[in-house]
Amino acid sequence: MGSQSYEDALEALKKLVIEKDDLKTVAAAKVEQITAELKKISSSDGKPFDPVERIKEGFVTFKKEKYDTNPALYGELAKGQSPKYMVFACSDSRVCPSHVLNFHPGDAFVVRNIANMVPPYDQVIFYTKDLTKKKILLLVKYAGVGAAIEYAVLHLKVENIVIIGHSACGGIKGLMSFALDGNNSTDFIEDWVKICLPAKSKVLAEAESSAFEDQCGRCEREAVNVSLANLLTYPFVREGVVKGTLALKGGYYDFVKGAFELWELQFGLSPVHPI
Ligand SMILES: [Zn+2]
Repeated sequence: MGSQSYEDALEALKKLVIEKDDLKTVAAAKVEQITAELKKISSSDGKPFDPVERIKEGFVTFKKEKYDTNPALYGELAKGQSPKYMVFACSDSRVCPSHVLNFHPGDAFVVRNIANMVPPYDQVIFYTKDLTKKKILLLVKYAGVGAAIEYAVLHLKVENIVIIGHSACGGIKGLMSFALDGNNSTDFIEDWVKICLPAKSKVLAEAESSAFEDQCGRCEREAVNVSLANLLTYPFVREGVVKGTLALKGGYYDFVKGAFELWELQFGLSPVHPI
């Protein structure tokens, strides 16, 4: 809570908007947001949270306000999807890419996991006893990501893959804090975040004396770059990038500042020069 009374706060807001007319739109949006939050508080007053009821209400609202009012969009989507983007985002409940980037249904094929990581293309090859036949099995722990990339690139033919990191990421904090010496204290998390170990090493080499929060912020961006590089280990991604049919982009959403950064992985082959 601030130190101002309700009346003082309203007066200060009025004064600011009168002095700076261009802030009116921003102020209106914020007031709308606060009103919605207060409505939520007053309607849930005293009532215990009911998870089933919440889902029912959520779907009824979506159906009434979105689905039923957009028959053209949902009619088209019933026939198929052709999203322009494949997006990797963190599972963090605060960073849903559809909200942050205002994606509509059909816009983005999304994978969400701990710290929005892309593992490198990896296969385990099993040879039969006589060594004449071989079976290639994708590593089970990574197959979900590989399958999603393969489907997005080869079947949906997405034109962009965007990996979005974010501020205050718990997965990156884990990567920066875990000893990662093989003595795991978790069943899955340490092995998973290790995918971006090169990002941790880079941050520690460049900013060893920085505060832990600063190191985490750097690692949140560097981990995106490691994942972008890992994407290039998938043959079908590499082929798309070389042909120019697929672009790889890094993004960073800072939900504390309300800011978004976007950058592109530049990749190209120079002309051939005879030597
Ligand atoms: Zn996260």
